[in-house]
Amino acid sequence: MEWINTRAGQMQKSPIRKLFDRASGMRDVIHLEMGEPDLPTPAGAVEAADRAARDGKTHYTANNGIPSLRRAIAASPFANGLSYDPETEVIVTVGAINALALALMCIIEPGEGILVQDPVWLDYFELAKFVGGEVRHIRTVPEEGFRVSAERVRQALTPNSRVLMLNTPGNPTGVVLSRPELEEIARVAVEHDLLVVCDEVYRTLIYDGVPSASIAECPGMKERTLVVNSVSKAFAMTGWRVGFALGPAKLIAKMTQLQEYLNACVATPCQYAAQWAVEHFEAADAMREIYDARRKVMVAGLNSIPGIRCAMPAGAFYAFADVRAFGMETQILCERILEEARVVCTPGSCFGSCGEGFIRFSYANSIENIEEAIRRLRTFAARLP
Ligand code: PLP
Repeated sequence: MEWINTRAGQMQKSPIRKLFDRASGMRDVIHLEMGEPDLPTPAGAVEAADRAARDGKTHYTANNGIPSLRRAIAASPFANGLSYDPETEVIVTVGAINALALALMCIIEPGEGILVQDPVWLDYFELAKFVGGEVRHIRTVPEEGFRVSAERVRQALTPNSRVLMLNTPGNPTGVVLSRPELEEIARVAVEHDLLVVCDEVYRTLIYDGVPSASIAECPGMKERTLVVNSVSKAFAMTGWRVGFALGPAKLIAKMTQLQEYLNACVATPCQYAAQWAVEHFEAADAMREIYDARRKVMVAGLNSIPGIRCAMPAGAFYAFADVRAFGMETQILCERILEEARVVCTPGSCFGSCGEGFIRFSYANSIENIEEAIRRLRTFAARLP
């Protein structure tokens, strides 16, 4: 007897684990697979947590989070200029991951359709499957810059589609969907009565003055959109585990009830740290400047290597490079890059079925490391037949 149910049995081991496991036994490896900031958490956030703990704020909070953090979230740019009632339309969760999981667990009946853009962060597919949803891939293609369009959403629709999961700025592509694109997609959501779960965790990382837009702002969408976000990427706070969701009161109420049974609440001092962050957006702006400089070094470096082509990403901290010219499966290519160049990067095949032929390089790393990685990759590529 293994005590494991079918759903748990079907959970896939992330293919990137194989690379991590191998890399962890190696010396002198440059990590460009990291989906997290290398920068330190702002001192103000650390001090806020410290102060909270010393002041005895070390007990359970309300299941939906401390009121002052909910108010701060509703008043911050994370609310996309929309008006949310901090009492009923905002919940604080254990990172964005937890908000996504709570939402899907509260929405999906077994067999209902969940539309997931492809390529995207692998967790979406696994979560959607775990809650018993029927996952439908919204296929995107390099020729269209991997952009999700209304047309692409329509192609994935089935009569039982219930939820559309969107991620902009996107991991791994760095694509930032524009307001007109989102409006077109919104029309499909309204037409087919879909709830949109929109993951905006890279929202503060948009470059070159590209405007940030949320599908929640489009006509008729606020009441059918759950905006998911967190302080993880924006403020280099991945380990604090504070995320949140803004959306329809009925859904937030159910997510809060489920949170009571699953987590009770987010660690109390961490909520105070997150409040400091949400009230100091300038800290996120300063980090964006740093990533922007790295982005340019990374993309110019990749494009200087024969066989690699990389479009300039508009958001997040990933470069998604076209390596089709090498004519090799990207899992194998990344294994060889690790063995022969001592650089860890993520095969596009880890992000669904449309990312094959591409590799994700994270530029959440120092300029020196990025430059050294590029040198190693150039030597590696020159040795390929
Ligand atoms: N959403 C996306 C698209 C991500 O890439 C990640 C982490 O890589 C997360 C959510 C996780 O965010 P959090 O740390 O807030 O749970």
